[in-house]
Amino acid sequence: MRRYKIAAIPGDGIGKEVVPAGVSVLNVLTQRCGDFALDFESFDWGSDYWRRHGKMMPDDGLAVLKPFDAIYFGAVGDQNIPDHITLWGLRLKICQGFDQYANVRPTRLMNGVPGPLAKARPGDLDWVIVRENSEGEYAGHGGRAHQGHPEEVGTETAIYTRAGVTRIMRFAFRLAQSRPRKLLTVVTKSNAQRHGMVLWDEIAAEVAKEFPDVTHDKWLVDAVTTRMVLNPKSLDTIVATNLHADILSDLAAALSGSMGIAPTANLNPDRNYPSMFEPIHGSAFDIAGKGIANPIGTFWSGAMMLEHLGERAAAAKLMSAIELVLAKGEVMGRDLGGTASTAEVAQAVCDAIHAANI
Ligand code: ATP
Repeated sequence: MRRYKIAAIPGDGIGKEVVPAGVSVLNVLTQRCGDFALDFESFDWGSDYWRRHGKMMPDDGLAVLKPFDAIYFGAVGDQNIPDHITLWGLRLKICQGFDQYANVRPTRLMNGVPGPLAKARPGDLDWVIVRENSEGEYAGHGGRAHQGHPEEVGTETAIYTRAGVTRIMRFAFRLAQSRPRKLLTVVTKSNAQRHGMVLWDEIAAEVAKEFPDVTHDKWLVDAVTTRMVLNPKSLDTIVATNLHADILSDLAAALSGSMGIAPTANLNPDRNYPSMFEPIHGSAFDIAGKGIANPIGTFWSGAMMLEHLGERAAAAKLMSAIELVLAKGEVMGRDLGGTASTAEVAQAVCDAIHAANI
C-alpha cells in the first residue's frame, strides 16, 4: 500500500477546527479508496506555542518537517501578538525555508453557491491564480531608521530576480498549458513601476516563446480587478507578483461566494522539500472556538495535496463529494447562508464520499 507522511499544523483560531475536520474527511476518503494511506502527525505550533516558548515553532522545526511528504496547514494569527511575528515565525518560515515559490489558488463558482456577481453562473468563474511566493514585495528587504523621531523612515523594497521571475513564469505557463483553455493572463504594473515590473514583463515575453500553444495577455493589476468582476469568463490562469496576487486572490475568493471555500497550495515544484496546503482564510477571531467555521476550503486544500502526491483519483473523488454537498444545498455553512456547523459539513462530505455514484 502507498503511504504518505503528512504533517498537520492547525495553528491558530479556526485553523484548530478546520484542520481536524480535514484530517477526518481525508481518513474516510483513504478508507474508501483502500489503496493508499495518509499517516498524519499533528504539531501544536502557533501562537499558544509562542506564549509558552517565545517562538512560533521550535528552532529545528524545518528539520522536523523536512522528511514529510506534505504539510496540511490551518491558519496563523492572534489578536494579542503582532502579525509580523506570527506570520514570519511560522507560515512564511516554512514557505521560505522550503522554497515554496509557487502559490497556487484555484477559484470556482460552484453549483449551489450564491456568489455576489448577479450575472455570473457556475462555469463562468473557474480560475487559478499563481502567486510568486518567494520574493517581490514580501522579500522582507527594508528597514527602519530614526525610530520615534520626526525624520523617521521605513523602507520596504520589492525584489525581483531573473531566476525568481523566470521560474514562476514557467510554472504558470505550464499550469495554463495543462488546463483546457490554455489561457494565461500576466498581471503587471509596469506603467507606474518602471524597473522590477518591466523585468517581469520582459521575462514573461521570453518564457511565452517556450509555450506557443498557450495564449497569453498582459494586464495591469488595477484593470484586471474590473475584468474579474465584469467579465470573469474571459480569465483562466493568472500569474502575478506576491502582493498583487495576494490581493487578487482575496477578491477571487469573495467572488466565488465565501472565504471559507477557497484553498491554496504553497508548492516547491522541484520537490526538494515538502509542499504546504491550506485554506486561504486566516484565523478569523470573530468565529473561532464556536465550531461554525466552514471547512470546505480545508477539504479542497486536501484534494490539492492528494493531487500533488499523485493520488489523482482520490482527489477527484473528494472534489466530487464537495461539489455534491454544495449543489444539494442542504448542509451549508453560515457563511453560505446555511446553519451547519463545521462537524455537520464534515459529516455531509464523508457521507458523500461513501455515496455509490462517486
Ligand atoms: P488574516 O489572518 O488573513 O488577517 P482574519 O483572521 O482577519 O485573516 P480572514 O480569514 O481574512 O480573517 O476572514 C475574514 C472573515 O471572513 C472572518 O472574520 C470570518 O468572519 C469570515 N471567514 C473566514 N474564513 C471563514 C470560514 N472558514 N468559515 C466561515 N467564515 C469565515
